[in-house]
Amino acid sequence: MAEKMEFQSEAKQVLELMINSVYSNPDIFVRELISNASDAIDKLRIESLSHPELAEYAKNGRIDITIDKKAGTLTISDNGIGMDRDDLVSYLGTIARSGTGEFIRAMQEAKNGANSDLIGQFGVGFYSSFIAADRVTVETLKAGGSESWKWESTGDGTYTIDGGSRAGHGSSITLHMKKEEQSGDDHDITKDYLSEWTLRGIIKEYSDFVTYPIYLTDVEKEKKEDEKEEPVNSMKALWTRPQKDISDDEFNDFYRHISHDWENPLERIYYKAEGTSEFRALLFIPSRPPMDLFYQDGKHGVQLYIRRVFIMNDCKDLIPEYMRFIKGVVDSEDLSLNVSREMLQQDRQTAQIKNSLVKKILDTLHKMRKDQPDSYNKFWQTFGVVLKEGIISDLRHREDIMKLCLFDVSEGDKTTLEDYLINMPAGQDKIYYLAGSSLKNLKNSPKLEAFKKKGIKVLLLGDPVDEIWVNHARKFDKYDFVSAAAENLMLPEGEKEEKKDSEIEKSGLVKKLKDALGSLVEDVKVSDRLVDSPVCFVQKGEEISPQMRNLFRSMGQ
Ligand code: ADP
Ligand code: MG
Repeated sequence: MAEKMEFQSEAKQVLELMINSVYSNPDIFVRELISNASDAIDKLRIESLSHPELAEYAKNGRIDITIDKKAGTLTISDNGIGMDRDDLVSYLGTIARSGTGEFIRAMQEAKNGANSDLIGQFGVGFYSSFIAADRVTVETLKAGGSESWKWESTGDGTYTIDGGSRAGHGSSITLHMKKEEQSGDDHDITKDYLSEWTLRGIIKEYSDFVTYPIYLTDVEKEKKEDEKEEPVNSMKALWTRPQKDISDDEFNDFYRHISHDWENPLERIYYKAEGTSEFRALLFIPSRPPMDLFYQDGKHGVQLYIRRVFIMNDCKDLIPEYMRFIKGVVDSEDLSLNVSREMLQQDRQTAQIKNSLVKKILDTLHKMRKDQPDSYNKFWQTFGVVLKEGIISDLRHREDIMKLCLFDVSEGDKTTLEDYLINMPAGQDKIYYLAGSSLKNLKNSPKLEAFKKKGIKVLLLGDPVDEIWVNHARKFDKYDFVSAAAENLMLPEGEKEEKKDSEIEKSGLVKKLKDALGSLVEDVKVSDRLVDSPVCFVQKGEEISPQMRNLFRSMGQ
């Protein structure tokens, strides 16, 4: 007897969105299902490293796509890890990912055209089936298990689980296509997903680099006696070819394949390292941020291959956190094929690869800044706030990262620290900054008045991370960072206008203010830092600023 179950409520909402949205690019469901099939084969391979009894199952991974026009179905089948009953409930019945709520809101707000972008970024992979199908059936058998299962849903908030009839390990996802997705004269055909020709095109475009063969069959077509099976995808490891033989289109297609992005990358890095550590890397800087850039459990890292054999996705040990925007592939010649995640963390060679990748990425960014300022500005706007974390966490490259930073200033265009130093007026021997949470407020701050008058520029630091790194770094090229909000600020050529001060003091204004403000402030002082504004608040000595306090609070400290 089939058991009827409810989707978790967030899953329900996502499904509803899938079913009711209009897509600028409905093709994505094909890619998502192929990517799941490929992941499932990867998982089985990885599992078999520690469970030798599975080794025999892990061979000859393949993905089969079957068209059945008469039944109106499209089936994507793999011989990967498969799912048992619990897997079906937790993987297909729920979405256990932070940011789902935000995703749902963004989807609801987005204009139709942006939907497939969001889906790609969030990776609601499996549910994209319901873009094209009004009923989805999953037949699956877990590798090493004995019971097969059948999962089915029309996407209406419930699904059923029943005993299945699949003989071999792996999963088959059968899409019962919506009427308008089928061919036929009396339909308004948006696209014919049951056409071999159409599917071939989609697979070539989005899944060509999948490392397992994808076979496409139309059940109505008779197979000729001597016809050899030919995979649709080329499975070529792009990074093993010489750079000059790879076209921009091939690079971009590859990027879109590994990143689930729909746009081309901003920049790519092709790197062949020789010597003590031999590896190839093909890395990309995306042109926009992924949804999970600031999630604690966000996916990041590169794909790791060892001598052309896929080892893992999202390998975090090769790319530091502060470069988590980088997508790509690293293929090592030296690492041992049965490395575990734990071993990777301690491995000396891993550390070496990581260090050369960081250098290479920083070099590329420096070059971009010099040669393609527009591109670089776009990069900085998108990922600068992430890169700045490196000033805190990566002492070895701190100086280098600081040189890449672009800052807003009290007057004029954005500046690098080096340019700031070059343009300082004679006599200035400190780097002044003002930190806060809004650039607009910073720009209008009365604390800048005295600086403006003296022609001194002040860096305006509007990101929460700024105050942390500035406290860590303290200096750049021998010049101290000094907050424009600090007490007892001595500006160069600062001659106090004694007369004015003493006049104010005599007037008793200070005492009046102190009495009026009471415990709201610690002290009231006369200062020469203001020119046009009558008063401003400053922070005392080493005390942390209100922005820092907020940041620490949000970090739970
Ligand atoms: P993601 O792939 O990002 O995890 P999906 O929605 O695409 O998200 O898939 C959800 C989960 O369902 C997968 O993580 C996997 O555990 C399971 N799954 C989906 N398709 C398959 C499949 N063909 N074989 C085995 N497990 C699968
Ligand atoms: Mg997926």
